[in-house]
Amino acid sequence: MYAEMIQAIAQGFTIVTPNKRFARVLQTQYIKTQLAQQKQVWETADVLPWAAYVQRLWQQTAPQDSLILLNTPQQRLVWQQIIEQSTYSKELLQTSAIALQAYTSLQKLRQWGLEVFPAECLLNQDQKAFRAWMHSYQKECASNGWLDSSNIESILIGLPLVPVKLYLIGFDAFTPLQKELLAELEKVGSEIKKAHRITTRRNHVIRCEFEDSQAEINALAHWIRAQLQYDPKRSIGVVVADLASIRKDLINTLDDVLVPSKLFVAGSYGACPYNITLGEPLIDHPLLHTALNILRLKKQEISLQHVSELLRTSFITCATSEACSRAHLDASLREYGQPIITLTVLQQYLKKDIWQSLCPKFIDGIRKYQEKILPVKQSHLAWSHTFVELLTTLAWPGERPLNSDEYQALLAWGKTLEQFVSLDIIDNCISYNEALSQLQQCLRGRIHQAGAVYTAPVQIMGLLESTGIQFDALWVMGLHGDSWPTPVNVDPFIPIALQMQENMPHATPQYELEYARRITQRLVIAAENVIFSLPLSVEDQALRPSTLLKQYPLEQIEQSECIDYAAVIFNSGQSEYLNDQQGPKVDDVQMHGGSGLFKDQAACPFKAFATYRLAAKSLKKVDIGLNHAQRGQLIHECLKLFWQAMHTQQELLNLPDEKLNRSIESAVASAIKKIQGGQAFYSFQGLLNIEHKRLCTILRQWLDVEKERSSFSVIETEQKHSCQIAGLEITVCIDRIDQLADGSLVIIDYKTGVVNIADWFEERMQEPQLPIYAVTIEGNIFAIAFAQIGGASTKFIGLSQGGSIAEEHFLPNIQVLSDFKYAKGFQDWHDLLQNWQQKLSVLVAEFQRGEARIAPYKGLKTCRYCDLGSLCRIQELDLLN
Ligand code: SF4
Repeated sequence: MYAEMIQAIAQGFTIVTPNKRFARVLQTQYIKTQLAQQKQVWETADVLPWAAYVQRLWQQTAPQDSLILLNTPQQRLVWQQIIEQSTYSKELLQTSAIALQAYTSLQKLRQWGLEVFPAECLLNQDQKAFRAWMHSYQKECASNGWLDSSNIESILIGLPLVPVKLYLIGFDAFTPLQKELLAELEKVGSEIKKAHRITTRRNHVIRCEFEDSQAEINALAHWIRAQLQYDPKRSIGVVVADLASIRKDLINTLDDVLVPSKLFVAGSYGACPYNITLGEPLIDHPLLHTALNILRLKKQEISLQHVSELLRTSFITCATSEACSRAHLDASLREYGQPIITLTVLQQYLKKDIWQSLCPKFIDGIRKYQEKILPVKQSHLAWSHTFVELLTTLAWPGERPLNSDEYQALLAWGKTLEQFVSLDIIDNCISYNEALSQLQQCLRGRIHQAGAVYTAPVQIMGLLESTGIQFDALWVMGLHGDSWPTPVNVDPFIPIALQMQENMPHATPQYELEYARRITQRLVIAAENVIFSLPLSVEDQALRPSTLLKQYPLEQIEQSECIDYAAVIFNSGQSEYLNDQQGPKVDDVQMHGGSGLFKDQAACPFKAFATYRLAAKSLKKVDIGLNHAQRGQLIHECLKLFWQAMHTQQELLNLPDEKLNRSIESAVASAIKKIQGGQAFYSFQGLLNIEHKRLCTILRQWLDVEKERSSFSVIETEQKHSCQIAGLEITVCIDRIDQLADGSLVIIDYKTGVVNIADWFEERMQEPQLPIYAVTIEGNIFAIAFAQIGGASTKFIGLSQGGSIAEEHFLPNIQVLSDFKYAKGFQDWHDLLQNWQQKLSVLVAEFQRGEARIAPYKGLKTCRYCDLGSLCRIQELDLLN
């Protein structure tokens, strides 16, 4: 096939391929042939894909002052504006995605010559909307003299064409419009040849099955390595059915096996033996992601996440010298608790002295950024200058030298700006937000593929790109029964009956079957050795082989012995053991913190050491709405306010329902207002209204429980106490203390989760706060109890002294010490308190000794609720053991 093509080039034919990739492969093949003939100079071969060819033909044929050809972003913008201005727009969420679909549907219709739906076609709501948009689009193009790239072929058919010499290669099928244009060219005397199709070949085709996708990728990587070891010049093709979904895993495994030098030096590891298509949208590149984060600062509101990313990026001014301070600032902003902020608020926050001295360059950049005043509206060209100026204030793309991939992304940014400026032809007076949104779309539409090397021996591609390419060996992966033939995928904007009648792509199972057969046959003859492989399961879903591939013999791939370089390096290391289970002793008897210290020490000594000695804590996650801790905080505040107004159970009982509801509502409203005023959370009013209702219901349920008790008066709510345990001074905040009729006390701790008091009788108490209060608070304590509030399990859970007064001091659900099965060994309340005192003293002694063992009391169950895992590295410890 290649020899035939080389001959055609020599005879002056233009080579036309169905896609860009195949055109590049043919160009490379042509160059290789010239080099093999020892040539030093030669004429460039005229090889190009169909779309580029028809554009060139139009430029050569159409009159000079003819229509203006729109590029893809321009066409999309016209579609988007039409959709947004239509009566249907109110019901639509993602107009840019719909514009893209409409653009694709029109291209398809034009290729089939069906721009006007036949009158008998029944249209659903979406198709009616599309028809209306299509009419507006056609009118808009006609009145402005715009030409859509999908319209070029039909316009060319009406123009006086000149004879050409065309060699068509790699086409599986032609659309009706392509056929018509080719026929017109032939009519004027053009010489049109179609590449001789290889239909049979003596080759070896097998089928392989693997446990899962990763096993399939591993086998592929080792097979490629063996092939290249056998002959480094061998051309190897890899066709992947769903390349987008496994691209990252594929690259990681191929790098491990084929480019082990990447383990040592990132970015400069010599020639890569493989080239993979399907890059990622430019918008996802970290360099451009940073640029957009900078530009977003001028929007009315910005998400804290974007500010946080900006503080941690290396693509802005003094990123290295201020890295630690900016990380500190990031952590501090998260504590601020607002997921959405404005540039003005950010600037006010940065005015604090501490940040002025820690991050002067960042603050200076933000100041210069804010000083740039933006016009209300201007052209795309003017906005492109503004974007560059804004980026310059923060010295984007930073001071460190860019690596090759980043440099290519920077070049692509320049081209994207050119595309953005080209949108002026559609609309040259837009706001900043509109400009930013259009810039994002341009970045999303541009695919970034760093260092595409078409001469690499291994070419990895998707099914559609493999058209016509020949290899020495080919591996086709992922063709299982569910994906091959591919499921029917009808166009939502074209009536289904019409798609079926015209046999449009992907509209019927018959089309898919025929298409899959044709592609399979093409792949079978694309190399001397062909392997079809599939995983037998994906995410626990069992898969079966495609029926189209069952005819090929099932074989095992022989795995050559391959070195796992990462494992070799790891195993060659000599471990040094350092016992770091012991920190320095505590000299000071006063510690910040309260019962949490005992809780953490009991759960895991390292946790207490890290939290109370190293002041370690995880970065706060900020989100819209309330988190679990804030919900708990609100309940505490509501109950505090309620009992500060109520004082006794008698008052509660005397209150008519209506008044009680009002008191509850008032406590809840004040609690929300107080916490909101402290800026502890950010929430939409709608969410707060829901929270208000939820809290009222919870409080009502809880107060019903309180009504069942014997009489009491509330003598303390959320009051701080300083106390001493085994010589360690701590401060605790007790949720509530009630006094009973005989003067004895009940200490209450509010809990929004489920609790279990059996734990008070274990060696290390996981919920020690109530025992701590019991041993430190003066007075006759009759009972200690958790008030478990919220949900179906609203109740008291606790322990009382019992005895003769137990009935008089009725507390629903409270266990009496003498009857409680876990408390069998204790003679009385005093005995129990002494035991608790002793257990707490052990914890104090451990803490004061500086014990820092990584020893979660209940194993990984304890770790599940701890966020210090990345500091203690328990997972690595497990692996080491
Ligand atoms: S994650 Fe587990 S082992 Fe690590 S500090 Fe927390 S509780 Fe201890």
